[in-house]
Parts: sequence; structure tokens; C-alpha cells
Amino acid sequence: MPAQLISGEVIASRIKEEVKREVESLKQEGKEVHLVAIQVGENPASEVYLRSQSRLCEEAGIKHTLHTLPADTSEESLVAYIEGLNKDSKATGIILQMPLPKGINAQKVQSSIAPHKDVEGMNLANMGQLVYGKARLAPCTAVASVELIKSTVPAVRGKEVVILGRSAIVGKPLALLMLDLDATPTICHTKTRDLTFHTRRADILVVAAGKPGLIKADMIKPGAVVIDVGINRVPEYDVQGNPVLDKKGKQKMKTVGDVDFEGAKEVASFITPVPGGVGPVTTVMLLRNAVESAKGE
Ligand code: NAP
Repeated sequence: MPAQLISGEVIASRIKEEVKREVESLKQEGKEVHLVAIQVGENPASEVYLRSQSRLCEEAGIKHTLHTLPADTSEESLVAYIEGLNKDSKATGIILQMPLPKGINAQKVQSSIAPHKDVEGMNLANMGQLVYGKARLAPCTAVASVELIKSTVPAVRGKEVVILGRSAIVGKPLALLMLDLDATPTICHTKTRDLTFHTRRADILVVAAGKPGLIKADMIKPGAVVIDVGINRVPEYDVQGNPVLDKKGKQKMKTVGDVDFEGAKEVASFITPVPGGVGPVTTVMLLRNAVESAKGE
């Protein structure tokens, strides 16, 4: 029987409703949730993302303000600017838009955000809390993956969770979150010997490699839950293998994950689609973190 789809859209919409209710109840207590996004210099790609971030916040009742600093802002002045916002009780959450201009150490600047205002859960203090199992604010994609897993596996205790990818925003924090839930996580990466040996052991397989088609059906344990975090843009072909062209004769592109979805869905019990799986849940996790930030230290 083909796998059931885990709809990120459905989960995201439930979380958004919960966020709205929390924003409203904080308002009743006189607290406004206010997310300040900082952008250094102009970047057309970031602007699209920032517009959608602002719209989402607005829909959830969260105030969103964009502060654009000049492209030649130094690391020192950026840190000073953030420190000013840290002291501003009206700015309850801060998000730093990437990329930053060359020469600015993103990790250092990120860590100058007050831990309780760090809505991306990316600064050193929040990462450290993860190790102690006390994270209030954790990286959105890792927390989104946990939500998606929990939606199909109510008790992950004792489960073998294999995570493909060891980045600071997905693989590593997710492994720590899984340990807190008493699962047995394994992280794989490019130097892992015999990847299939590990993936085929997974009750829950999370793939965050950024490599389209990396995970094939025969690498998945029958009945496993598969969470595909990957987002890749690839050329589109029709069933005969011919390129699909747009009106201007240019080959169309489409978004796929890291898992060969058609093959994997014949083996897995549950699987996230791409798009429509991890992506929408990650987005609303930012809203949830913004609410958590507004609750203060
Ligand atoms: P990243 O920093 O590039 O990390 C990729 C990880 O995958 C690395 O640890 C790498 O191993 C491992 N890897 C790559 N190819 C591999 C292979 N052939 N075999 C085994 N391991 C392999 O990427 P990321 O930022 O974590 O993102 C991963 C993917 O998730 C990307 O497609 C990204 O666009 C997507 N993403 C999606 C969301 C969402 O909301 N859905 C959010 C964030 C990211 P090494 O460490 O050895 O190099």
C-alpha cells in the first residue's frame, strides 16, 4: 500500500491558529509580539522572502518591522545596532536576514542577539540550551521536523531515527531533540561508510542533504516514516523524457526534495511531499518562536 502523505500545509495551518490565539492572549496581558527583521544592504531574493515573512506575521497578528541598514555597515556597528534592539522592550524578537555582506562574521553577529529574542534559535546560548534539553528557542527546521514526526509517530521512544545531514540548522539540533524524546538518533554525512546500511535501519528517516534523488526506495526500511527536508530546483521533463518548456521556450524548473518520492512512497508508511511538507511547517515555527520570545527571559 502506498505511503500516506504527511501534509505540512495541514500541520502548519493548525500551528498558525494556535499562534494566533497565543498572540491574542498576550495582547490581553498588554504584550505585543513584535518581530524586527534586520537586513544589511539590498538583496532582491531576500526581499521576496521578507515580504512573505511580513505577510505571515500580519496574518498571525504579529507586528513585523524591517530595518534595512546600509550595505557598508561594519560588523561592529551591526552588533551595536542589535544591542540597541536587545534593550528595546518593544522589539520582542529579532531576525537577521542572510546573506550578510562579505567580511561580517554571521555567527558572531547572530550571537549578539539576546538569547530570548533569537527567534531562529541559532545563537550560541540557544544552541547550548539544546544540549541541556532545555531549548525554548530552537532552529525552526529542526523543530518543524519534530512536529512532522510527532504527527505520525506519537511515541518516538526507542525508535531508530537516522538523520542524513549534520548542519547546525537541521541535522545536529534535530539529533539532540530526538534524544530528548528518548529516540536513538544516528547522523550520517558525506564521510559515512555504507549509507544504505544506516538508512535501511531507520524507523524514521530524515533527509537534509540538498541532493535531489539521493535516497532511493531500496535505501528505505519497509514501513518507515520519511521526512524529506531537501529543497532542490531541477529541470522538468515530461513522461517521454523531453524537457518541459515555458511560453518563452525556456526549460521549466521544479522543486523536489532529496528523496526519490515516487519510489519511496511504495516502501514508506508515511512520507512528506516536497513542496508542501517540511517547508510550510518551518515557516510557522518562526511565528511560534516569535511568540515564545515575546514571553520574555
Ligand atoms: P548543508 O549545510 O549543505 O548540509 C548538508 C548535509 O548533508 C551535510 O552534512 C553533508 O555532509 C550531507 N550530505 C550532502 N550530500 C550527501 C551525500 N551524498 N551523502 C551523505 N551526506 C550528504 O544543508 P542544510 O542547510 O542542512 O540543508 C539541507 C537541505 O535542506 C537543503 O536542500 C536545503 O535547501 C533544505 N532546507 C529546507 C528547509 C525547509 O524549510 N524545508 C530548511 C532548511 C534547509 P558533510 O557535512 O559531510 O558535507
